[in-house]
Amino acid sequence: MTTVGILGGGQLARMMALAGAPLGLRFLVLDSAKDACAGQFAPMVVGDYTDQAALAEFASRVDVATFDFENVPADAARWLAERVPVFPNPRALAVAQDRLAEKTLFRELDIPVPRFAAIASREDLDAAVADIGLPCILKTRRLGYDGKGQFRIKTAADIDAAWQALGPQATSVGLILEAFVAFEREISVVAVRGRDGEFRAWPLTENWHVDGVLSASLAPATVDSGLNDTALSYARRLAEALDYVGVLALELFCRDGVLLANELAPRVHNSGHWTIEGSETSQFQNHLRAVLGIPLGSTRMIGHACMLNWIGAMPDAGAVLREPGGHWHDYGKEARDGRKVGHATVRADDTLELADTLARIGQALGRQAQVAPVLEALR
Ligand code: AMP
Repeated sequence: MTTVGILGGGQLARMMALAGAPLGLRFLVLDSAKDACAGQFAPMVVGDYTDQAALAEFASRVDVATFDFENVPADAARWLAERVPVFPNPRALAVAQDRLAEKTLFRELDIPVPRFAAIASREDLDAAVADIGLPCILKTRRLGYDGKGQFRIKTAADIDAAWQALGPQATSVGLILEAFVAFEREISVVAVRGRDGEFRAWPLTENWHVDGVLSASLAPATVDSGLNDTALSYARRLAEALDYVGVLALELFCRDGVLLANELAPRVHNSGHWTIEGSETSQFQNHLRAVLGIPLGSTRMIGHACMLNWIGAMPDAGAVLREPGGHWHDYGKEARDGRKVGHATVRADDTLELADTLARIGQALGRQAQVAPVLEALR
């Protein structure tokens, strides 16, 4: 009996546990919140990632460990890796935790990125804004997610406010200034690399964010095959450079037909949730297969899929459940502003059927604005 340990007990860990059940796997989740939603499906050790006693207990009870959360302190990941196999490796985790290290690696690997500069002081910020130009975006290097720890600088008058908001974090988590990309599309590559180096990727996903948080994803993305190959080659390059094992997601901006890398997520990703129903093997099961060193499953898509995120509170399930291609995912969390509480995936054999179903769901739930950009892309 194999027990997979997961650091972090959110919806990603929960969906991993669900995907691992048919493989006969057991799970153990480490999270500081005793009501973490993965705990509804897997036993838990309740403790902080820096709590040595909790980590030691966790290590003693698992055969292999992985993450549902990338901001596990690198020291904790390294400590664990000395005791049990940990995938992805702590170095990959450390690079993906730091926007500066991540963008520097992209550049080294000839993966195009928006212009960026490290910011340690107000003087650095003034100089970098002058160099990179406006508009631009100031971000924390570490611990930012879902648009948090970001400040958009539209005009020179915003520089003071940006520094007031994020300047105090310049020495703790560090700051980076990036050019603001007026992209036509945001896309992501979700890919998996096995312990033996085998690499597979799902078709590109097109994503729409609201206030920095993913709102909808469409697969396959409406991009030409040239872009698909380029994006996949970037993800492969990164996975190989980091000797990565497991699922990773690379977020890209597409502007004037050129791809610019934004971010690497060293874990299963929200933009890959559609793979549960929309592909032969889900990202969750392939992540587990990679981590365990067993054969990877096919990443072939079955038709077309759209995922809609439910943020804050769950809408009425009926509008999705009554659709033949509608699939419902309630993470079992309490409603809270800005919280990801669930998602729906709509799968269809062709884009016409997908658009019709989405339009009906959008109408029934009063969420026309959420489905509108997807319908526009499908047109
Ligand atoms: P991130 O946390 O870096 O993934 O940012 C969250 C979202 O903010 C992205 O998905 C984009 O929609 C937007 N964003 C972040 N960085 C930039 C940028 N340099 N230019 C334009 N939009 C951005």
